[in-house]
Amino acid sequence: MKCMQCGGSMTSRQETRRSYGGLERVIMEGVQVRHCPDCGEEEISYSNVEKLHTALTLQLAWKEAGLTPREIRFLRTYLGLSGSDLARRMGVTKETVSRWECVDKPLSMGPMAERLLRLMAVREQPVTEYPLERLEHVATTEATPLRVRLKPRKQDWTVELST
Ligand SMILES: [Zn+2]
Repeated sequence: MKCMQCGGSMTSRQETRRSYGGLERVIMEGVQVRHCPDCGEEEISYSNVEKLHTALTLQLAWKEAGLTPREIRFLRTYLGLSGSDLARRMGVTKETVSRWECVDKPLSMGPMAERLLRLMAVREQPVTEYPLERLEHVATTEATPLRVRLKPRKQDWTVELST
């Protein structure tokens, strides 16, 4: 495999990465990383990305604690929505969406908007394991980041809660 930057030959190895898609407490195992010893260029490739996104979305939808700004952003982009798209769907202003996603000084989404976002996210995929009674138990405490460890397995990813 040749480096796109300098044409040198790249070496390949598996690494553990400590974040994914802006989610800071998500540990990714077995990530394929290509590295160019000549210029330092790095290429990361994730296998079965669709399955990976499904797994993460489901974890976020199930999580009891509130969603962090980065998690809200992850779900919005997973849904393929811009800030104004999400604002229109949820009946708020675009500025409100920006403030929900503001890492430094977030505006709390509140449980009603959060539960709606979680429902929208699970509705977008063939997920049946989300009974509506579940909504009673989510977004019930202050936002804390999802802590999980993902490992590639066959054509999918396995998820373990981490500390
Ligand atoms: Zn290079």
